[in-house]
Order: sequence, then C-alpha cells, then structure tokens
Amino acid sequence: MLPLLGLTLGELKDLATTLGLPAFAAKQIADWLYRKKVKSIEEMTNLSAANRLKLAEQYEVGYTTPAASQQSKDGTVKYLFRTSGKKCFETVYIPEEDRATLCVSSQAGCKMNCLFCMTGKQGFSGNLTAAEILNQIQSIPESQQLTNIVFMGMGEPMDTTAELFKVLEILTSDYGYAWSPKRITVSTIGIIPGLQQFLAQSRCHLAISLHTPFSEERLKLMPIEKVYPAREVLELVRGYDFSHQRRVSFEYIMFNGLNDDLTHARELAALLTGISCRVNLIRYHAIPGVDLKSSDPKKMLLFRDFLTAKGIICTIRASRGEDIMAACGMLSTRNHV
Ligand code: SF4
Repeated sequence: MLPLLGLTLGELKDLATTLGLPAFAAKQIADWLYRKKVKSIEEMTNLSAANRLKLAEQYEVGYTTPAASQQSKDGTVKYLFRTSGKKCFETVYIPEEDRATLCVSSQAGCKMNCLFCMTGKQGFSGNLTAAEILNQIQSIPESQQLTNIVFMGMGEPMDTTAELFKVLEILTSDYGYAWSPKRITVSTIGIIPGLQQFLAQSRCHLAISLHTPFSEERLKLMPIEKVYPAREVLELVRGYDFSHQRRVSFEYIMFNGLNDDLTHARELAALLTGISCRVNLIRYHAIPGVDLKSSDPKKMLLFRDFLTAKGIICTIRASRGEDIMAACGMLSTRNHV
C-alpha cells in the first residue's frame, strides 16, 4: 500500500486523474489528511463510498504510531519509529513554558559522520519519505500542542531535498498545515546544492552547523568541510537578506580546550561579518568512544559575552533530554535495529 500522507496538492490532483476521481477530490483528500488529520481512508466521508474503495485499493493514509517512547526528567519525550522497510529513527518532543517544539528526523541514521554525533556513528540506513517525516508530526500524542518544528533530528535534511521540499510545502501551504514558515527551522551542515535550493524556494528559518571558524579544525570534526568548506557556505548565505522574516542562525557546539577560547570567538565574529545572524552555543554532550569534553560553563559565558559585545545575538542553548540520550548529537537507534 502507498501512503497518501506526504503527497502535495499537485500530486493528489494527478492521483485523482489517474484513479478517475473528480478533480475536486484532491482538495478534499488534502483537507482530510492535513487539516482533519484522519487515520484512515474510511474517515474521508465526503468522498463517495465507491471512490473511497477505489482509493483504498492502492493507498492508505500512512499513519503509524511510535513504537516506543522515553520521558526525560525535564519533560522532554523521545519517540522511536520503525517502518516496514526496517528504518528506525527518533523524534524528540521538547515542551517549554511558551512553546512546544518537535525535533524531527529526515533520515534513518546519517552519512555525514560528524565526529561528535551518535547518529553519524551508527551509519545510514535510508532517507525518510515525506510520509515518514509528516507522520512524526501527526502521530505523537502532543501533535496538537506543537508550536515549532525543527529539522535537527537524525540525518542531514539537505541530503534529501526531494522529500524535504515536499514536507515544507505541505507544512506551509493553505491546503496543508498552513503553518507560518517562521515556526519551522531547517538545520544543515552546509550541503551547498540543497542550501541553494532552500534559499531560493523556502521562507523557513535556517540553522547552519559551524562549530569552529577554522577550516582545518572543522575538517577534523566534520568531514563535509572537505567537500563544502564553511567559507563557501557563508559566501552563499551572505548573498541573501536575513534581516526580515527569515532568520539564519549558526550552531556552535563547545568542546573543552578545542574551540572555546577567545581566539575562536574573535575569528568567528570576523567570519560572520556582514551576515545578519545569531549564534547558538550548545554544550557538547559526551558520547561513547569520542575523546572530547564539554566546555566549562564559565568559558561559554565569556564566549557569548564576547560575541554579544561584537553586536552578534548569541545565546547558550539549554540542554534538554540528556538523561534519555535525546539531547543534541545523542540520537541513535543502533540498539533498536
Ligand atoms: S551532526 Fe547532523 S549531519 Fe552530522 S552526523 Fe549528526 S545527524 Fe549527520
């Protein structure tokens, strides 16, 4: 059975034509899928019984519930999904006082092999389909409470652009979820072709993982530096206006004695000159087999204050879900595959 979830309005129109359904059925199906969020074709009651039957011969909604969940002492919840194609991936729900964020995965595992990341260590077992990405949003118990979605879970979103752009269209279109692009952030390590497409097509916020201003050092942390150096990524970003609506932020994981001194802060400030942006400092969450340590909180404060004095908006991101391995860089389904 093929999933209906994840089909854009254009694709639903093609499907209606192929199955001999009336043209207006496409809009009706989109409404059931993305507004009313039904779990089965039988619930699409404004389609005739004959047309529902026709649809159900080849399609299903594509809704599946999480296979397991774990709750952190700070309220964060990590969900495990398992697909029939044997892909395993995790999604993290992060409730805060004034917002409820879902950190979604775009791939099962990841090819990018960043040194500090558990997902990178487990390897890659496949791109998630648009249905599998949207199902993370629709199937968790907190679905109705969500205020923000961040593509910061497992995988590199710009490595799976066909599915990513379908999902972004469905999330932000009137026929879909009708969410403001300001509620959605896509995070990347800087895959330039995907980034170019994103900058041209999407109004969603962008987050770029930088982690050090020095190329040789970044290469040791992130092999992608060899293919798409951060300086080239920044040149691309510099050509776009981020002063209104869309926001670009740079993610900077802080490692003790590696990238947390004022030499790095100074170079980072110089590198970001001319880009209207913010910097998020993230405490490194130790993972097994990696000889890196978290920065001292006092050094993080000094780093933040230096960037702030240079006129860069800089925040230290609160760690969430570390006790259930749900914090930044800790997602892995290696033990569930
Ligand atoms: S940090 Fe992101 S891009 Fe790098 S290995 Fe982890 S999931 Fe992949």
